[in-house]
Amino acid sequence: MQPTGNLHIGNYLGALKNWVRIQHDYECIFCIVDLHAVTVYQHPAELRAKILEVAALYLAAGIDPADCAIMVQSAVPAHAELAWMLTCVTPIGWLERMTQYKAKSAKQESIGDGLLQYPVLMAADILLYQAGIVPVGEDQAQHLELTRDVAQRFNSLYGDTFVVPNTSLPTVGARVMGLDDPTQKMSKSATGLNHAVALLDPPAKIRKTIMRATTDSLPAVDFDTAGPGVLNLISIYQAFSAEPDDAIKAKFAGMRYGDLKKQVAEMVVAHLEPFQQRYREITADPAYLAGILRDGAERVAPIANHTVLTVKQRMGLHT
Ligand code: AMP
Repeated sequence: MQPTGNLHIGNYLGALKNWVRIQHDYECIFCIVDLHAVTVYQHPAELRAKILEVAALYLAAGIDPADCAIMVQSAVPAHAELAWMLTCVTPIGWLERMTQYKAKSAKQESIGDGLLQYPVLMAADILLYQAGIVPVGEDQAQHLELTRDVAQRFNSLYGDTFVVPNTSLPTVGARVMGLDDPTQKMSKSATGLNHAVALLDPPAKIRKTIMRATTDSLPAVDFDTAGPGVLNLISIYQAFSAEPDDAIKAKFAGMRYGDLKKQVAEMVVAHLEPFQQRYREITADPAYLAGILRDGAERVAPIANHTVLTVKQRMGLHT
């Protein structure tokens, strides 16, 4: 995740919650991608603080640092090194087609080169560790496809080097939509007051934001005609509660929107209150957090360095 803005329930349901679920089934590396964050200007002091905030949120969500590595991208120079080598095998047309690049660059007066290269750096983050599975939200599926294409292109030019990774999307919550506008994905950079529920929002604010969510002109839930706002609220509830489809249908069919919103708000508050309590405990001990990040970088650096050495050898670079 990028250490920018406020992490929200979309980040949690699309990515973080699934990381916690699979963390003991695989050898996991969870990165805080600060080099990606600076593809648009970040205030240095705020960025420094956000990196620690995101690390603490990973831990509060339940990532177990005894089993998984939690690390900051810029602490392992191999990320930037491999990104350059991959840049050199990536056609510019592949990058210009990326929908996230098109959306982000449309908002900038002057487009930094880093914004275009963003997915190549992401490919480096993944290929560096020969990752088999990358658990992300749906908005990252296109970047994962590009990562696969870059890996295959490198492998065909220089011989088998990279594992071609698979994308893992959650079945519910892969694309949480904005509460003020359910046609847009919930996003950290959106400015609307009622757009998102941030993971660190106090309960009163969570309730207020959800009670104001946009629905449609019908009075109550009808699964055959429900609009995107209603379906978004129901899928947020289901992603938190992990109830099967038939239980969700039985619970919400015919329910008035006001009651639906109350149920969703209470479900979100019930999950986020203990999460926020753990966050406060973790951030009370900055030395603990710094130690986890140092340890994470030390654990993954040998894997990353080994890949970079192999890539240099394959390309004929000086080693
Ligand atoms: P980012 O905000 O780009 O740092 O994304 C961090 C992770 O959260 C990525 O795996 C995204 O796919 C996921 N994510 C971001 N926004 C959403 C959303 N609205 N719904 C589901 N997943 C999301």
